[in-house]
Amino acid sequence: MKIARFKYKKELLWGAVEGNDIIALRNCPSRKIQKTSKKISRNKVKLLAPAVPSKIVCVGLNYKDHAAELKMKMPSEPIIFLKPPTSVIGHNCQIIYPPGVGRVDYEAELAVVIGRRAKSVSAGEVTKYILGYTCLNDVTARTLQAKDGQWTRAKSFDTFCPLGPWIETELKDKASLKISSYLNGELKQDSSTSEFIFSIEKIVSFISKIMTLLPQDVIATGTPAGVGPMKKGDSVEVEIDGIGRLVNYIR
Ligand code: MG
Repeated sequence: MKIARFKYKKELLWGAVEGNDIIALRNCPSRKIQKTSKKISRNKVKLLAPAVPSKIVCVGLNYKDHAAELKMKMPSEPIIFLKPPTSVIGHNCQIIYPPGVGRVDYEAELAVVIGRRAKSVSAGEVTKYILGYTCLNDVTARTLQAKDGQWTRAKSFDTFCPLGPWIETELKDKASLKISSYLNGELKQDSSTSEFIFSIEKIVSFISKIMTLLPQDVIATGTPAGVGPMKKGDSVEVEIDGIGRLVNYIR
């Protein structure tokens, strides 16, 4: 099922995307999701980011091709950092380029959306706690990242976490998914989750032993080789096989 969060007339709703329609859902997100009889045409709704997370936990370096490109040693444990919930925007929304920050980059990432409260979960049990998967752009003020020596400012500006367009709950072959990014329609990142250093199960288990994960929390699993700068007026897209394409604009 593709689960979207959307605005229809003045209502905020969750729904299952089925072709050109969205079927409204109740009890979403939870384990008791039910379809209602309310069917709405997709072109009548505004898609919103498909989660309202209490936190976004990101993995700093998780692709072998990206580690090789940066000439960095493979980490022995995931390096994690946070993005604030206020950085989240949805599909087709604008990324605001902050004045005077220098270079700002795109980073295509596969995001995990948590479905159940998770604390100290073993890798073997992780799947039970995942609602589904979506596309994420870990927008980064690269100049500030180097200047500050730690990443909070560089990763946290409002609009720096595009998420969407929806959550795919039945994603197959998670260990070999094609992941790409496009800048103004030109292919920039072109890799596969087969380049992962740490699996989704290991990452979620590792994080759950540090902090309690709540429903709708988002985990960003790192970016592959090919990151690069954006400028005002650009369009940026993150595409993942089996999920879809997240499109945003820089202004
Ligand atoms: Mg990243």
